[in-house]
Parts: sequence; C-alpha cells; structure tokens
Amino acid sequence: MSCTSAMAYYGEGGFRSTEMFNRGEAVYFDLTGRYAKRRGDDVRLMTPARSGEALSRITLAHDFTLYEYFLTDFAGHRQNMGRAVRYLEDVDAALGAVLKYYDLERYLLILTSDHGNVEDLSTRSHTTNPVPLVAAGPGHEGFASRCDDVMDVARAVFEYFGVDPVKHSGQPIRAELIKLPE
Ligand SMILES: [Zn+2]
Repeated sequence: MSCTSAMAYYGEGGFRSTEMFNRGEAVYFDLTGRYAKRRGDDVRLMTPARSGEALSRITLAHDFTLYEYFLTDFAGHRQNMGRAVRYLEDVDAALGAVLKYYDLERYLLILTSDHGNVEDLSTRSHTTNPVPLVAAGPGHEGFASRCDDVMDVARAVFEYFGVDPVKHSGQPIRAELIKLPE
C-alpha cells in the first residue's frame, strides 16, 4: 500500500469518490484520471493544471495535505525517456497551478522525493542520488534546517505540528495531538 493510500485508509477523511474527482474535489494519482478511465471508471479527464488547482483548493480545507506522484518512478524503472519527459511536464504544469492558488502566507509547502530514479535512465533501479527539497511559506527555514537527509522529512513534519514522532510511532495522528504552528 502506498503512503497516501495508507493515510486515506487509516485517517479520518477516507477515500474520495469518482463523483468528487469529476467535480474537481479530488486529485487522481496520475493528475489526469487516464488510469481510472482505462479501468472503466466514469471519469472526466482533467489536465494536470486543473488537478493542480484542485489540489490547492483541497489544502485550504485541511491541516495537512500530502500528494504523492509516482509515474516518474514507473518511467525510471522502464527506462522510458518519452514517458519520463511527459510525466515531468505533467508535474510541472500541476505544480505551476498549485503555486498560483496556494496560500504561502498561511501554509508551508514542501516538495521532495523519497528516492532518486527518473534522473538516471541508464539504470532501472532506484538511485541513492541526493534528492531536492523545496520548502516555502511560514516556518520554511526551520523545516529545511531539520532535513539533512530524506529520512529526516517525516520527523520534521511531525515536529512542525508539535507531535513527538517517537512517542506516537505507529499510532494514528488524531487532530487532538496536533498543535498548529502560529
Ligand atoms: Zn520504484
């Protein structure tokens, strides 16, 4: 199970429906809905930019929003340059739309990767190359200073919300545990 699937499964929000996706109230993992359509779901295809807008709107109603994109990982495993370029263009378009509507005065934005892969298509495996981390918005300097390694990111997110990651390891993080930063 992927990280976002686990969060939706164990969290309080649950999975969003096809109807919500069609109304722009949910974002599909491929940013377009193409995979769902191929599977036979009754979806209206979205452009990556419209999905980026939807993602920005979703952040406004939540304390924490995680979006996980992994088609670039698939392109890396298949060593497929054409797909790698197309998927990176999709992410670029979505991110542009996210930034257009995102409230950087109120919300910290973190952009990172959990491992390398697509940057080196000479191998079909994940790489150990350093990955970028972008932090923007309130508390970005403190957040970035806690992250020397990709393994530090999850702990920094816990600390940002005032949750002790050791004490609450393996437990669902309920709203009452969270102390939102001022
Ligand atoms: Zn992979």
